[in-house]
Amino acid sequence: MLYAPVGTRMTDVLVFRRVRAVDPAASLDAEVDVVVEDGKVSRVGRDAAKDLVSGARVRVVERPGAWLFPGLVDLHAHLREPGAEGKEDIASGLRAAAAGGFVDVCCMPNTRPVNDSRVVTEMLIAKARALGSVRLHPIAAITVGQKGERLTEMADLKDAGAVAVSDDGVCVTSSHVMRRALEYASTFDLPVIQHAEDHALTEGAQMHEGHVSTKLGLRGWPRVAEDVIVARDLLLAEYVGARYHVAHVSTAGSVRLIRDAKSRGVSVTAEVTPHHLLLTHEALLGYDTACKVNPPLREAGDVEALRRGLADGTIDCVATDHAPHGVLDKHVELAEAAPGMIGLELCLPLLLGLVRGGTLPLSRLVDALTAAPARVAGLDAPRLREGARADLVLVDPAARWKVEPARLRSKSRNTPFMGHDVEGRIELTVCEGRVVYAAGTGAPS
Ligand SMILES: [Zn+2]
Repeated sequence: MLYAPVGTRMTDVLVFRRVRAVDPAASLDAEVDVVVEDGKVSRVGRDAAKDLVSGARVRVVERPGAWLFPGLVDLHAHLREPGAEGKEDIASGLRAAAAGGFVDVCCMPNTRPVNDSRVVTEMLIAKARALGSVRLHPIAAITVGQKGERLTEMADLKDAGAVAVSDDGVCVTSSHVMRRALEYASTFDLPVIQHAEDHALTEGAQMHEGHVSTKLGLRGWPRVAEDVIVARDLLLAEYVGARYHVAHVSTAGSVRLIRDAKSRGVSVTAEVTPHHLLLTHEALLGYDTACKVNPPLREAGDVEALRRGLADGTIDCVATDHAPHGVLDKHVELAEAAPGMIGLELCLPLLLGLVRGGTLPLSRLVDALTAAPARVAGLDAPRLREGARADLVLVDPAARWKVEPARLRSKSRNTPFMGHDVEGRIELTVCEGRVVYAAGTGAPS
């Protein structure tokens, strides 16, 4: 047997022989052996495991051409528990995360009830711990009930385990509330994550405002509805000297504003989703509800700016915005369809295409999915170096596979990439020395 069964601790020693190990935070990109013992990386180096052979206590993984990264970190996922467990729950969401190479998942608070309390935050953490899979880090709400009015008890939420605050799904519209949120959160060193959307400019919007929305006769969500909030928030963050993080940046204007603010030393970070890097509003020409997302898919010029912003570090992180929905929410008219698509299992395989195409250096992609998001959320970043916690993902960059419902661990299937052929496959995910995912083993449940 090549791998230990999913969910078990390695009997003793797991050896990756001659893999291309990439960890920009450790200045590592080399063909090495990597050895995992007792939940830790015990050796990294050329032929470092040549004395180890497969046996009762040692498993050797030999995959010529495979790449090994630190385990991935997702800053932005919707796991739907509590309240909509039919779409996803902690168990299925974390299985999907493991299948996508993630070892840390930050979950957004727009559940039912909203995670604006210690009790929900603690419940989420306790459930995830009991599963013994990958790590879950709740993001709590900025305002009570995400109503945009009264601030949550951030000290209490941080103490319970929340790693950031966000009203994601809705924008904190009031400048006064946003100012107070930035001030209050900064006293606990919690990043404030904004869903930047001026709702007065997007009422009834179905998609990006542009020539496609005109052609389809649909109400548009103009870029400027994002840009005005990002611009205002950057001014507020600069004024109060607080950390500010922009969720799912989708416009060229936001990238420009963030780049400018960073050059002036404003403490801002940002994330972009795989779908905003890969798709444009033209994907909606067939009224495909799987392509309805919030913020909407934009134009080629925005995609270009997002790619450049990610490559040069203006955009720090890639985050999935994994947003599971069932058929009742998606197999309806576009106007009725819920926004969002799943992303945990497809993120890395899809984005390897940008690396192959020369748009994005591999080291930048790995950083944007490991150390950079860990820094935003204040997590110990997975590292590929001796002595580090063994959080790893093994990838076969040349393996081709088809995205099919039966292959996905998520409870939901809402992705426009269904049926697509993808090059690059997650082979193995290891979290704290435990194999939490192995390709081709066990039926998804
Ligand atoms: Zn959002």
